[in-house]
Amino acid sequence: MSVSRGGGKRLIIAIDGPSGAGKSTITKLLADRLGYIHIDTGAMFRTVALAARRAGVSPDDQPALARLCNECTISFARTNGCCQVLLNGEDVSSAIRTPEISLLTSTISARKVVRDFLLELQRQMGSAGGVVLEGRDIGTVVFPDADVKFFLSASAEERGRRRYLELRARGEKISLDETIAAVVQRDRQDEEREHAPLRRAVDAIEIDSSGLSIEEVLERMTAVIEARLKGQGAGTSVRQPVGSF
Ligand code: C5P
Repeated sequence: MSVSRGGGKRLIIAIDGPSGAGKSTITKLLADRLGYIHIDTGAMFRTVALAARRAGVSPDDQPALARLCNECTISFARTNGCCQVLLNGEDVSSAIRTPEISLLTSTISARKVVRDFLLELQRQMGSAGGVVLEGRDIGTVVFPDADVKFFLSASAEERGRRRYLELRARGEKISLDETIAAVVQRDRQDEEREHAPLRRAVDAIEIDSSGLSIEEVLERMTAVIEARLKGQGAGTSVRQPVGSF
C-alpha cells in the first residue's frame, strides 16, 4: 500500500514496544514511505550508556551522569540511506549494539537525570512533525498528543529469536537461551522502573507482530495513517481510537 507523502499535515507518529518487537525495521521503512524523519530514541539512550561506560561513570552516580549528559552531544546523520548515531561527532552505531551496552542502557535509562536530558532533545527533534519516533514512552510521555500511536509487541520467544539472529549475524557469541533471558530481563527492568516505564498508551493501537511479515505490519500501519490523514481537516486534532489488530 502506498501512502500520501505530500501536502497535508505532517504527523507525529509514535511506535512503542518491548525490545525485539521489530520497531527499528518497521520504523525505518515506515518513515521512508512517508518521507518522514525516523528518530530511534533507543539509540539515544544507548549512546548515553556508551558514554558512561567509556568515562567509567557508574549508573548509580546521578551527579556524574548529569555532568556526562551536559557534556555529550548526540545527533543523527544519514549517509547512503543509512542512519548513523553520533556521539560528539563520532559514529557509534555499531558500538552501542553489543549485549553489554543493551543491559547497561536498560539500567541507565531508569535514571531520571538521563530521561530528562533525552526528553528535551527528543521533543526538540520531533515537535515540528513529519517524524516517526520509536521507543518505550513516546506515546505516554514524550508526545502524549502524538497524531498516531502504535504499540508493537511479540512473544518473548519470538523477540529473543530475532535478537539472536541479529547478534549472530554481527558475530556475537551468544546462545538463543541467553538472548531470550536477556530480552526478558530488559523487559522487566523497562516495565518496572519508576520513571516513564514501558507501557502501552491507552489510545495506542496494538499490533502483535508474532507470525506477521514486515510487509503485513507496514500494511496495517499505513492503513491507519491513511485513514488519519484523510479524515483530518486542517488544524483538526484527531484522537486515536482504542483498539488492536
Ligand atoms: O529500543 P532499544 O532496544 O534500542 O532500547 C534500548 C534501551 O533503551 C531499552 O531497553 C530501554 O531501557 C531504553 N529506552 C527507554 N526509552 C525509550 C527508548 C529506549 O527507556 N524511549
